[in-house]
Amino acid sequence: MPYKQQPRLSDCSNHKLGNAIYSWSIPPITTCPGRSHLCSNLCYALRSRLALPAQTSLYQRNYRFSMTDDFVPWMRLQMRMLLPRVVRIHVAGDFYDDWYVRKWIDIVRTATEVMYFTYTRSWRDDSMLPELIRLGKLPNMALWWSMDRETGPAPLIFGIRRVYMAVDDRDAAVAPDDCDLVFRVRRSTPMKKANGVLVCPAENGVTGKFRHTCTTCKLCWTKVRRSRWEEALSDILQREITTPDVE
Ligand code: SF4
Repeated sequence: MPYKQQPRLSDCSNHKLGNAIYSWSIPPITTCPGRSHLCSNLCYALRSRLALPAQTSLYQRNYRFSMTDDFVPWMRLQMRMLLPRVVRIHVAGDFYDDWYVRKWIDIVRTATEVMYFTYTRSWRDDSMLPELIRLGKLPNMALWWSMDRETGPAPLIFGIRRVYMAVDDRDAAVAPDDCDLVFRVRRSTPMKKANGVLVCPAENGVTGKFRHTCTTCKLCWTKVRRSRWEEALSDILQREITTPDVE
């Protein structure tokens, strides 16, 4: 492959992801068509070591490469060489168009021994929504709709969970009670649940000897049978609800 500077999956050294999860990232903000003002202002990829020059230049390389026809075969090859158990898509960045989502559908479909997970606000872009739903239906893909108080509620789609980004503790207290998880940006008190919804264990503020990472927690990359709203609907209807297939 005649690329002078190579794209790269990040290895398992991310503090929050832990030691068993690879990740793929592209530049934040410019690749996030569904971003809100709130998440743009608070984006962690613009701070910390994710914003160091070496990282931002890698994200640019990855982004340019993702637009080429070599992206899908290269990523399939990475899966065969690195043999990752789990891949987090977009520690930085998001799905920027429907072609790019289709490429990920091809990758996820062919590397079925790998579990993928990601959070996206690109559900807010109508042109991408159908492809994102197809991606979220794949058995080895755990896709989350990302929300905050500016995005409004994400669509209720069978098999796709929803996470709420709470800016602070007051915001956490009014998290939508039908979402599946709450992330906390500024946290001043320990909080295991926010408005009845589980808070990410890595962000609940509870201190102890054991430090949660996504590797140990597993919640986000485990495909669940039903999300919270599906459970609630099932309870109301007092019967099992079936998940329609999407092709
Ligand atoms: S809930 Fe668990 S898997 Fe999800 S982001 Fe938090 S630590 Fe990671």
